[in-house]
Amino acid sequence: MPTATLTPCPNYIGGEWQTPSGATTPVFNPSTGDVIAACPAGGLAEVEAAVEAASLAFPAWRETPPVERARVFFRYRQLVEANFDKICQVVSREHGKTNAEARGSIFRGLENIEYACGIPTLLFGDSLRNIARGVDCDTINLPLGVCVGITPFNFPAMVPLWMYPTAIACGNTFVLKPSEKVPLCAILLGQLLEQAGLPKGVFNIVHGGKPVVDGLLTHPKVKAISFVGSTPIAKYIWETGTKHGKRVQANGGAKNYIVVMPDADIAKSVENLTTAAFGCAGERCMAGSTAIAVGAAAERLLPDLVKAAKAIKVGPTDRTTQPDMGPVITAAHRDRVLSLVASGEKEGAKIIADGRGVKIADAPRGFYLGATIVDGVQNNMTLAREEVFGPVLNVMRLDDLDAAIEQANKSAFGNGAAIFTNNGRAAREFTMRVKAGMVGVNVGVPATMAMFPFTGWDDSFYGDLHIQGKESIQFYTQQKVVSSRWFGGDVGDVWKK
Ligand code: NAD
Repeated sequence: MPTATLTPCPNYIGGEWQTPSGATTPVFNPSTGDVIAACPAGGLAEVEAAVEAASLAFPAWRETPPVERARVFFRYRQLVEANFDKICQVVSREHGKTNAEARGSIFRGLENIEYACGIPTLLFGDSLRNIARGVDCDTINLPLGVCVGITPFNFPAMVPLWMYPTAIACGNTFVLKPSEKVPLCAILLGQLLEQAGLPKGVFNIVHGGKPVVDGLLTHPKVKAISFVGSTPIAKYIWETGTKHGKRVQANGGAKNYIVVMPDADIAKSVENLTTAAFGCAGERCMAGSTAIAVGAAAERLLPDLVKAAKAIKVGPTDRTTQPDMGPVITAAHRDRVLSLVASGEKEGAKIIADGRGVKIADAPRGFYLGATIVDGVQNNMTLAREEVFGPVLNVMRLDDLDAAIEQANKSAFGNGAAIFTNNGRAAREFTMRVKAGMVGVNVGVPATMAMFPFTGWDDSFYGDLHIQGKESIQFYTQQKVVSSRWFGGDVGDVWKK
């Protein structure tokens, strides 16, 4: 296996960067197929050390006034902005996003840091004087303690940033377990947080796979788990974490429908569908992975859509000249996507744009797939039901809006859905009836920004309080309600002077 000079991949525990000895897993540059780092497989010793460090740092951090906590994140924001290009390069190198995609994702992350800067007002409680005669009532939002984040490969900067800035700003301490496929970005983000002046032990990174996750899920000192990843693991995290008394929010996979009505602006629909389906090589939980062409929309939509897909240039993202679309994460993942497309073909669907044979002359070992469109997909096909997570767009043709909503609502997932139309009535009906937590009207990827919760439903989310927005403040705090009465004098005396 070709190996470039390996980038160090240390854990960050109690303010120290340490590389454990022992087993590792290879980290690839998917553009070239080269191994670029060896991610520590980790174990219980590192879990114990990180949770202990976070636990020891908690009392002082909890006591740090929210304005001072916010100042750390103001400095962090400046540092992330100053190192924007460097972070982009790391994201492109270990994940394969194009520079534009990496930039977009880091902006979304940056907005979460900006959100955390508002923590003094976000932590306000409620207050009512004289709730009963002479009695006052106040809610106080208090941190939980040690919180954990377990993140997927597809957004190496953005998804961790969905979690720890808010958690830490709320007064918690944090242990991040990044994806073992993309561990390098988390290290850079951790170094910048250290430079921003965060006290030692407040933020920690432990690399590894299942044994590390299990150690964190069951550790008695861990209070809350934030997870983002595939549905089976999300369900496992939620079940195991809650069984061990933790608060859990676990985002899972998705299968998102985009409905194109006959009255839609077809040029805009094509543009948005292309970005939604093939942006980030389809490796997005908000990817528009199925287009439903309603009635006459199909004849107008499909020729241009196929043309747009065939025009997408695929190639390495670690060079000056940027392609439209980069590789997928690993060779194994590419093979899984290929086998799902093959299953659709075998079950009777028709491939109308075929990206399977794409070859990149100057990066022959990279993990590439071209944009692929599969027409005539039926609900009973594996391709219709399973998350593909690659540059593959399914097309279904249905007669009317009712049938389109009924089809979208058959999905076990419930992350996103979108409609393209110029008819307000159709848009309203779709937004009300479709079974998904994030809905777009003439917006192909209705992923929410930092101020709004990332509201997956059904198999796309396990838990009660979502990541981002006010729900994240509620998730990372516990409320105390204080009722107080002061003796001396009669009720109503305060008004007498
Ligand atoms: P994954 O579930 O394989 O891995 C996610 C994390 O779980 C990683 O840190 C990994 O080390 C850990 N993990 C993997 N297997 C485990 C096991 N058996 N036990 C304990 N921990 C385990 O997901 P992935 O392939 O890295 O990411 C892609 C998935 O993430 C897709 O399904 C995508 O839809 C989903 N995703 C969802 C959202 C969302 O907000 N809903 C956002 C991004 C990605």
